[in-house]
Amino acid sequence: MPLSPSLDSWQVVIVKHGTRSTTRSDAYMNYAFYGEPDGPHRLDYYLWVLRRGDEVVIVDTGYSREEGVRRGREVLIDPIDALRELGIDPEAGHPVVVTHAHYDHIGNIEAFRRSPVFIAREEFEFWTGEMARRVLFAHFGDRGAMRALEEAQREGRLRVFDAEVEVAPGVLVAAVGGHTPGQAIVTVETTEGTVLLASDAVHFHEEMERDMLFQSMADLPRSFEVLERLRAAPVVHIVSGHDSGELGRHTALEGALGGLAATIGERR
Ligand SMILES: [Zn+2]
Repeated sequence: MPLSPSLDSWQVVIVKHGTRSTTRSDAYMNYAFYGEPDGPHRLDYYLWVLRRGDEVVIVDTGYSREEGVRRGREVLIDPIDALRELGIDPEAGHPVVVTHAHYDHIGNIEAFRRSPVFIAREEFEFWTGEMARRVLFAHFGDRGAMRALEEAQREGRLRVFDAEVEVAPGVLVAAVGGHTPGQAIVTVETTEGTVLLASDAVHFHEEMERDMLFQSMADLPRSFEVLERLRAAPVVHIVSGHDSGELGRHTALEGALGGLAATIGERR
């Protein structure tokens, strides 16, 4: 009988699938309040893959090519192609975590037709409700992907959770809110220690370092509380949702995804 892998043997793969060049005044909320000069700002788009032996958990699914082009985002690699390069078949039924329902995190979700899909109850109810129709929210939505989530619900594959859920041993997803009503973060036990995937609870590391917030946050006091919680978290790495320096903080992945991916921890 093969030895079962231990809890702390996940590997995180950070995949950069898109990018966009913008300004600091566009990236940060009320940037003029800081009294600093404006300047260029790069925003990268990621999804995350957790691997342990043959097990795979997918955290977010990027934006679809169609949404990316429509919004002027550069597609560096189609997220589904990136997963295939990692040897992952989207139809294999691997669990998918949706950290929040913005277009750049739930695009392509329809490709995961057999997967259980985990999303916070507050997040799902918000995006299927009336409030989300207002343009300040709807701007970030992806109607096609939401229909795919509703289809997952009809098929009994949607795993809606309240405070937190263990997707697999060593992989905990917690709803924290702030950026969106049910924004979730993921803690993963790796060979390097506990890693926290902040998703868009932290777009850029500067938010944590300087107590700044991204341009669009649903609940400001909650967003600051989440930053405090993350600063106090007993983890070895916090992985941001969009920081252009993220790959450089970790181990570059060679091969077909060279330049577009990095790893944390060993794959066992
Ligand atoms: Zn995002």
